[in-house]
Amino acid sequence: MSRARFIAAARYRRPMYGSNHPLAIPRVSLAQDLIAAYEALSAEEFVAARKAGDSELQWFHTPDYVSAFKRAEALGRVAPQARARHALGTLENPYFSGFFTTPATAAGASIQAAEMVLEGYVAFNPAGGMHHAQPDRARGFCFFNDPVLGILRLKQAGWRVLYVDIDAHHGDGVEQAFLHDADVFTLSLHMDTAYAYPHGGGRFEDSAPQAGYTSLNLPLPRGTTDAEYRLLWNEVFPRVLDRFRPDAVVLLGGADAIAFDPLGKLALTTQGWLSLCADVLAGAPRHADGTARLLVTGGGGYHPLVVARAWTGLWGLISGRQLPAELPSAGAAALRGSGWDLDEDAAHFAQFFASRLDAAPRPAPPRPQVVRLAQAVAGHPYLRHA
Ligand SMILES: [Zn+2]
Repeated sequence: MSRARFIAAARYRRPMYGSNHPLAIPRVSLAQDLIAAYEALSAEEFVAARKAGDSELQWFHTPDYVSAFKRAEALGRVAPQARARHALGTLENPYFSGFFTTPATAAGASIQAAEMVLEGYVAFNPAGGMHHAQPDRARGFCFFNDPVLGILRLKQAGWRVLYVDIDAHHGDGVEQAFLHDADVFTLSLHMDTAYAYPHGGGRFEDSAPQAGYTSLNLPLPRGTTDAEYRLLWNEVFPRVLDRFRPDAVVLLGGADAIAFDPLGKLALTTQGWLSLCADVLAGAPRHADGTARLLVTGGGGYHPLVVARAWTGLWGLISGRQLPAELPSAGAAALRGSGWDLDEDAAHFAQFFASRLDAAPRPAPPRPQVVRLAQAVAGHPYLRHA
């Protein structure tokens, strides 16, 4: 009997984020279709997402912020005051039909996922992972900070939580929420903000667990490869796990760290990215029956084919299935039906419809700047004696 749960909603098939936005693409629905093509999701494993209640959203968000969504949804647009104050209805965080209900459902699903983890499951909320959202303001395409809400739900049970963010972008909203909370450790590996969103913070020098902070940031150079990411990951992940000894792990599985992502500037392969997820799954603390105490969310990811393949593989891992690399024909058809044609001429495009994994890149030695960062990590006071 599977102890894994996949939480989603039919409303994720509706158009979102308008027409000219990086998130106006099928993501959860396409991943779900690909998973279905593999026959890798049982009725027992699927859970319908529930909308978060106002009081739950207000564990982190201000009442005014929550009200602004409800008013906008009722009105069919965002009023100018709400746009100015909460950054809602902007180009970055645009209005769309279901403006409150859809993000509130994705947020509710992370609370649900936390409750399932408390009950003995490993849970995946692919619509979650909105790690930039702030208490009173939308930010970076993120409306409700569902990772924060999920962590808060686990904390209500007295659990200590390790948050691991492998999205291409710094998990700044989650870091800020728990920066001085001794019961939550946030670890984020991300594009250096010197060249990438959110254009500030997330530096290794900002990491200071020894000063009462419980966060660690590893900024990555453009074009970071599997081997380079691995070098840093192997220094940091096992040591943080060993030092912090959480009761549960929350993994933010943004797929924009994989090569071909139109916004991400890293160069991981899908299998390299999945190997990180596998490490988190293997390292997470355990329920009595051996099930991982692990809550997984989606996150960024702006190439629908890459996202669908990555999250299918991630679900395969956490549900204990060995998925073949070759795509089932129904899966290839679902990907072709997504209408994604921005890079049809690229040499790599055909592989997306043949395999859920990428051709491995030619191995190259890690660049000196990555080696230096790995050495700094190894010498970090919090990690040194682990
Ligand atoms: Zn991202």
